[in-house]
Amino acid sequence: MGITSILVTTLLVSAALESVISKYGKHGGSPVIKSDPSTFRITWITNIPVIIALLLSLTLSSLAQASETEKAVFQFGGIKITAILDATMKAAPAKLLLNITPEEINRYIPGGETDLTTVAFIAQLNGQTILFDTGFGASKGGKLAARLEASSFRPEAIDTIVITHMHPDHVGGLVTPEGKAAFPKAEIYIAKTEYDFWLTPGLAEKIEADKRGMVEVALTALKPYQGKIKTFAYDTEIRPGVVAIAATGHTAGHTVYRLKADNGELLIVGDLTHIAPVQMPRPEVAIVYDSDPVLAVKTRKAVFTQAAQEKLPVAGMHFPFPAIGRLTLDGDGFAFTTEAAK
Ligand SMILES: [Zn+2]
Repeated sequence: MGITSILVTTLLVSAALESVISKYGKHGGSPVIKSDPSTFRITWITNIPVIIALLLSLTLSSLAQASETEKAVFQFGGIKITAILDATMKAAPAKLLLNITPEEINRYIPGGETDLTTVAFIAQLNGQTILFDTGFGASKGGKLAARLEASSFRPEAIDTIVITHMHPDHVGGLVTPEGKAAFPKAEIYIAKTEYDFWLTPGLAEKIEADKRGMVEVALTALKPYQGKIKTFAYDTEIRPGVVAIAATGHTAGHTVYRLKADNGELLIVGDLTHIAPVQMPRPEVAIVYDSDPVLAVKTRKAVFTQAAQEKLPVAGMHFPFPAIGRLTLDGDGFAFTTEAAK
């Protein structure tokens, strides 16, 4: 990462942190979640500058070279799933997590800094090849497109893309740096609730300039796919063996997907956690990116409890790479064990 990027990143993070602190006030050195759900909607709206600044800073950081393995393959019955690393960035959870003190965070992450990875998954099941989410996009330092080009999954051959939610690190990769379709043959599946939120007529005009960035990334990402976007209601089988399940809270229409083929099952859980070393043992800890932190916490607990009880493998876009493993109930939280790759 160049010195300019480092300086810009530092400035953005400082500005974002200052804004978080001024918004939430200092409570033992850490932002504290308020309990009134209506407050959260307002908080989210007014914290858009913070979210944009943090996402931008993470994007710049993602230009740093990834040191991990870039690709890992797993098999669960009739499901073959490949995890592909899009970006790795350094994150300081004390600046991102809500309802926990820096001292407590330090118990889970000594030194207070951790890798935050962004991963996309390619699932092969029931005769289909499906890409789940698309990372940041090459223009923001995302490596997915280059890694697909170097693999047996050529972007021009991918015909089905399923989206968990429309944040920049999930839909940014739909377009090339020139704004063209990165996957020219693909149809894009998005939950109707999520699509309708971001496509609300006049949304960008109704809100502050700071929030327009996220809306613009979402709209720009979908633009080359007009006529090829498939929206759906929850609890429907959107493709053979792929059922969409509501998991809202992180965004208005955040979606998890339950995959089934032969004797194999798998849950793709999107952004139900970002900082796994903290949010697995302490699922009540939310993150500034959650549009409704109270609902996000409730959803995480419900989905993870079910996955643990059913012993389902789970794949998460920000789990530690290779981002696929099993959950078990552990006290008031969960323990996550990475699955052995094939
Ligand atoms: Zn994300």
